[in-house]
Order: sequence, then C-alpha cells, then structure tokens
Amino acid sequence: MDESIEKAARAVLDSNLTLALTGAGISVESGIPDFRSKGGLWDRYDPDEYASIYSFQSNPEKVWQMLREMEETVDKARPNAAHIGLAELEAMGLLKSVITQNVDNLHQEGGSKDVIEYHGNSRSLTCLWCNRRYDYAQKKGEYPPYCECGRILKPDVVFFGEAIPMAAMTRSYELASSCQALLIIGTSAVVSPFNVLPRQAKQVGATIIEINLERTVLTDHITDILLLGKATEMVSGLVAAVRELKSL
Ligand code: NAD
Repeated sequence: MDESIEKAARAVLDSNLTLALTGAGISVESGIPDFRSKGGLWDRYDPDEYASIYSFQSNPEKVWQMLREMEETVDKARPNAAHIGLAELEAMGLLKSVITQNVDNLHQEGGSKDVIEYHGNSRSLTCLWCNRRYDYAQKKGEYPPYCECGRILKPDVVFFGEAIPMAAMTRSYELASSCQALLIIGTSAVVSPFNVLPRQAKQVGATIIEINLERTVLTDHITDILLLGKATEMVSGLVAAVRELKSL
C-alpha cells in the first residue's frame, strides 16, 4: 500500500467527523472542464467576463451562449470513481458531508446523500425580476429560457459578485469548525469565501488531506498529506486502503 494513501486512510479511520471539499477538478474525468483545462470551455469563455452577475445583468443573451454549452456538457457527464468513492465512504459511516463548489449534481448522482452546494445548482432557474422559480426540466432546450413575465431566467448557480446561499455557508463553516479530517479534492482553493473552510479546519486541528494533479496555494501551509494524482485514482486508492485497514 502506498505510504501516503495509508496515512490518509488511517486519518479517516481515526476521525470522528470527516468532510470532503470538492472543486471542478473532481468532475474533469467526467468530461466537465475546470477553469484550467486547455481547449476547454474556459479557453473560449473568460470566466471573468462570463461568470459574473454584472455580465449576466447587462447581457444575459451573451452569458446564455456559455451557459448553453456548459449545460450540454453537464447533461452528458456521469459520476466518476471519485464521486462514487466519496458516496461509498459516506455509506460506510466514514464521511459526514461533501461540500462542493460544483454545480453539476454529480455527487448526488454518484450516491452521496449529504451534499452542501456552496455555489448553488444548475438544476433550477430563477427570475431576477419577479422571483418565479422553474425546474431545469421545464425549460430544457430553451435558449435563453424566459420567465412568464418576459425576462430571461438565471440558473441558480452563484455567479461571481453574488452572495453564497446562507444555509450552505453557515452549515459548512460549522462542520469545518468541528471536523477531525478534511479531504480537499480538485480545487485550486482560490475562490473566496470557500477557501476559508480549509483554514478553519486546520485551525481546529483537523488532518488535511489534499488530492490534486498539482500543488496549490494550500499545499505548503495547510495540507498535512498530499496525494498527487488524478481524483479517480486517489479516491479509489483511499477507499480500498480504508477497507483493507478496517478488515485487519
Ligand atoms: P479550478 O478550475 O480553479 O481548479 C481545479 C483544480 O482541480 C486545479 O487545482 C487542478 O489542478 C485540479 N484538477 C484538475 N483535474 C483534476 C483531476 N483529474 N484530479 C484531481 N485534480 C484535478 O476549480 P475550483 O477551485 O473548483 O474553482 C472554480 C469555480 O468554478 C468553482 O466555483 C467551481 O464550482 C466552478 N466550476 C464548476 C464546474 C462544475 O460544476 N463541474 C466546472 C468548472 C468551474
């Protein structure tokens, strides 16, 4: 067994409360590009230009060109071994919650029950003018989708410049303040205020396990155990190690 994976597995087994924080990197192997993948969505649509609430308010038709492509990509995506591995840890009673920045619903589709969506979800839409809400299915294939009041709808994802849903922010902070082990998977950890959570967990003494293809801003000062590699391989390895150590 790889030494770092074994250390991570022991930390999960020894912990009374373990959380997973996830970002776009966990869904890359499902076919959804992160902000960095070459040739991906974000090479053609600058997130600063397309993912801010000010852009949406001033030109929703333009932002919907990007949202349409993102929706079509998300529709084709299926949960991968990393999403499924986290659901297995939860089912084994070894993972309390997944706190995700993703809006792709893949944790839920992979079987996770307790998922906190820090940046909302793309499966519903709201009218910014009259507050009517719609399910994604009601508006599927309509680009851009319109409200009955005649305005263009916005998906319930948090754009840059918008507030984080209060319930998600409060519960995440409370959990991070009492966890004993924290898995951080596929995030550059530069988006605020999500990036407060690893620091909070570190402050209360949690063991921080980071899974990423590369080192991040967390690696030198926050991370205790770094598992460098693909999310699918590292999470599967971790789950296998946990099972093996549990059976000894
Ligand atoms: P990011 O794009 O800033 O960083 C992604 C991180 O994942 C990088 O550190 C990269 O090295 C790592 N990574 C890429 N592929 C990986 C793999 N196969 N295994 C392990 N690690 C891998 O993403 P972020 O930190 O989540 O911040 C971007 C923001 O954009 C977030 O709000 C995010 O939710 C949103 N976003 C969401 C999706 C989605 O819902 N799937 C996709 C793109 C962006």
